Amino acid sequence: MLSASPTAREDPLAARHSFEFFPAKTPAGHAKLLDTARELATTSPEFFSCTYGAGGSTRDRTFETVKDLVATTSVPTAPHLSCIGATRDELREVLAEYHAAGVRRIVALRGDLPSGMGPSTGELRYARDLVGLIREAHGDHFEVEVAAYPEVHPQAKSADTDLQHFVEKARAGATRAITQYFYHPDAYFHFVDRVRALGCDIPIVPGIMPITNLQRLARFSQSCGAEIPRFVVKRLEALGEDEAAMTEVGTEIVARLVERLLAGGAPSIHFYTLNTAGPSLAIGRAAGMF
Ligand code: FAD
Repeated sequence: MLSASPTAREDPLAARHSFEFFPAKTPAGHAKLLDTARELATTSPEFFSCTYGAGGSTRDRTFETVKDLVATTSVPTAPHLSCIGATRDELREVLAEYHAAGVRRIVALRGDLPSGMGPSTGELRYARDLVGLIREAHGDHFEVEVAAYPEVHPQAKSADTDLQHFVEKARAGATRAITQYFYHPDAYFHFVDRVRALGCDIPIVPGIMPITNLQRLARFSQSCGAEIPRFVVKRLEALGEDEAAMTEVGTEIVARLVERLLAGGAPSIHFYTLNTAGPSLAIGRAAGMF
């Protein structure tokens, strides 16, 4: 299913946005997460989302976190669900629980298994298959978000095949996409143009990762294939270990990115909060979003 196209936005102040969390491991972490969500809820986000450990490792914690986020903030919350390492029956069971709990949006992913477990583990190999299973079992009940990779998924055979596989997810029934984070705005615009040229017009929402610590970001970026521009590395390296200064410079750089994305027609912004409100709020405010 290829759904209706978003109109390009002209007013950055009318921007829509969403925030992503991960399930906390401890009761204290969970309480902090709910405080963060309360603070972010004041910006009237479109939705929150909560990640899912591939292979079902956070199945219960993701479910509880989604329920608590809705109960605490009344913001609609989308669980992520990954299919790798799971059986069809397990996935159907999780989806039925979410349907019964009133969830209306799912972020459907393949996921990454811990090293040592082969890529064919489980009954579904790709996110496309999970999107199909969701549509088969629940019709149009859920909005289905999928992942997009403006800088190409790290395991893709080529940029072209990765693009084709992205479009297959829309054809299987995805209604919207959220990108992996990136710092080159042209990577996003180029990707969107190429997707549109293939006749696929689902909204593609930039995923935005705040910059607060160069070493952590560099580690993360290596595994997910996101490139940190040289000028960013150089500016942050000059700040040594001063995390407050890095956050300030990071906010300036990422807010400029967000402004350019919105001015260029990005339909919304999805913040990877890492369960902390400050950096996402600072970026959104500096970009005039809220
Ligand atoms: P897919 O779309 O299935 O693609 C995976 C790879 O397979 C790509 O290289 C693609 O080109 C290739 N491919 C796809 N279809 C085919 C085909 N038919 N034949 C051959 N090759 C094919 N991970 C988690 O574990 N939990 C989360 O909660 C989570 N949330 C995320 C949220 C967002 C917004 C993003 C961008 C990523 C998230 N991830 C999460 C990470 C994601 O699971 C990984 O990036 C994973 O490696 C790919 O997932 P996918 O859904 O994009 O997979």
